[in-house]
Amino acid sequence: MSDFPLVFERSAPGRRAARPPVTEGPGMAELLGEDALRADPPRLPEVSELDLVRHYTQLAHRQFSIDGNFYPLGSCTMKYNPKLHEDAADRFLDLHPYQDPDHAQGVLALLHGLQGDLATITGMDAISLQPAAGAHGELTGILMIRAYHEANGEGEQRRVVICPDGAHGTNPATASMAGYDVVEVPTGPDGEVDIDAFEAALGPDTAAVMLTNPNTLGIFERRILRMAEAAHAVGAQLYYDGANLNAVVGRARPGDMGFDVVHLNLHKTFTTPHGGGGPGTGPVGVKAHLAPYLPVPLVKREGDRFVLDAERPRSIGRMRSFYGNVGNLVRAYAYIRTLGAEGLRRVSSMAVLNANYLRMKMKEAGFTIAFDRINMHEFVAQPPAGLRTLDIAKALLDHGVHPMTVYFPLIVKEAMMVEPTETESLETLDAYAAILAEVLQRAQDDPEYLAGAPRHTPVRRLDETTAARKPVLRHGFAPG
Ligand SMILES: *Cc1c(COP(=O)(O)O)cnc(C)c1O
Repeated sequence: MSDFPLVFERSAPGRRAARPPVTEGPGMAELLGEDALRADPPRLPEVSELDLVRHYTQLAHRQFSIDGNFYPLGSCTMKYNPKLHEDAADRFLDLHPYQDPDHAQGVLALLHGLQGDLATITGMDAISLQPAAGAHGELTGILMIRAYHEANGEGEQRRVVICPDGAHGTNPATASMAGYDVVEVPTGPDGEVDIDAFEAALGPDTAAVMLTNPNTLGIFERRILRMAEAAHAVGAQLYYDGANLNAVVGRARPGDMGFDVVHLNLHKTFTTPHGGGGPGTGPVGVKAHLAPYLPVPLVKREGDRFVLDAERPRSIGRMRSFYGNVGNLVRAYAYIRTLGAEGLRRVSSMAVLNANYLRMKMKEAGFTIAFDRINMHEFVAQPPAGLRTLDIAKALLDHGVHPMTVYFPLIVKEAMMVEPTETESLETLDAYAAILAEVLQRAQDDPEYLAGAPRHTPVRRLDETTAARKPVLRHGFAPG
C-alpha cells in the first residue's frame, strides 16, 4: 500500500492533465442562457496526467476482484467473466434505446434469441429480460402470481407466501413488498425442507411457495416433485429462485421440477460482472398460464422482423425503463452461445466437482461441514469450536484470497458458505485449502493472531455498520 496522497491532495494550481480544445461557434451562454452559467469555476483538483493515472491505478489496486484474486463467495458466484463477452457488449454501445426498432433489428434478434435460450434452459414457456437484478426478478414474478390469483377471483383469499428458513433474505422481503404474509418452514436434519411442516403449512390461503433448488446449503431437494404436487393441489404457485443456477444448468430444469415461475441472475450463472462491478440482470421465466402477465414490452418475432410487443392487456406493466440492462444481455448471450449445450453441462459438472473437492479439503483441514453429504455447487462449513468465522475471514484477506460468504444461511451458526465455481483450477483450490489450514494452525498456536487480522490491507478492522452508514469521505477541497 502506498502512502502517497490521493488526487485531491495532489492538487497544485495550474497543473493540467489535458486542455479541452477551444470550440468555434456559439458559446455556452448563447446556447443555455446567461443564468445557466455558474459564477465560480468548479473546485476540481488540478493535477498532471501522471498524477491522475496513478490515482486511478492505486485505487484499482486496493480493489479485490475476480480478475485479481480467488473469490469463493457462496451464493454470489464470483466466476471468471471471459473478456470476449466484454468485447461483444462493446459492439452494441452505439445503439440508442429510442432507436426505431426497424433500425435495431440486430439487437432485437439477439434479445429474441436469448429469450428462447433461457426458456430452453429453464423449461419455461416465456421469458422477460427486463428485471435489473435477482430481487427485481423476484418482485416481477410474485407480482405476476398476484395478478394471476386476482384474475381467478382468489386475490383476497390467498394471503400467504411460504419460504424455507434457509431462504435468501430477498425471498421473504419480496413477498412482503408484494403485500403477502410470510410463513417460514424449517429445514430438516438432512438439510432439506421439512416435508411434513411444509405440507402442513400449505392451504387455501397459500399464494406461492418460494424455493431454491439446490437450496442455500448447496443441497438438492430430493422431494421437489412431491412438494410441487402438494403446492399445486392447494392452488398455490411455485416460484424458483434461480439466482444461482450453476449446479443444474444444462442438466435439470426448474420447469420440469414443477415450477411455474423462475428468475435467473445473469450476473451469477451467465457471467456478467457483479459485486460492485456493474449492473445486474434478473430475467424471469413463466409457464404458459402466467405468460399474459409478463412485463411489457416483450421482443416478438413477426415473420422475418422483430418487434417490441407492448399490446399485452393483462401485463403487470413495465418493470424497468426500456429493455433492461442490454449490455449484460449481450454478455449472457455470448456466454450461452460460445459454450453451447455441452459446454453448459460442463459448467455444472465442474462447479459441483470443485465444490465437493473443496468440501473434503476443508474437512481435512479441521472445519466442520453443516449437513455433510454430497453437495451441489456450494457447501456450508463451520470453524472448529472456539474460533469465529469473522476472524478467519479477516485473516484470509492477508493471504490475498477473498473469504467465503459468512453468516449465511442464518440457520447455521458461524456459517461459512463456499462456492469455488467451475472456472478455478485444481491448483487454486489446493492453495486455498492450504491457506485455510495454515490460518487454523496459526490461530491455535497464537491466540493474538486472529484478533489482529487483517494486517496487510489498506484498512484494517472497520466498524462495518458505521462505515456503511456514516462514511468519512476524504477529499482535498481547499477552503474558499
Ligand atoms: C444473489 C441472490 C439473490 C438476489 O439477487 P440480487 O441480484 O442480488 O438481487 C436471490 N436469491 C439467491 C439465492 C441469491 O443467491
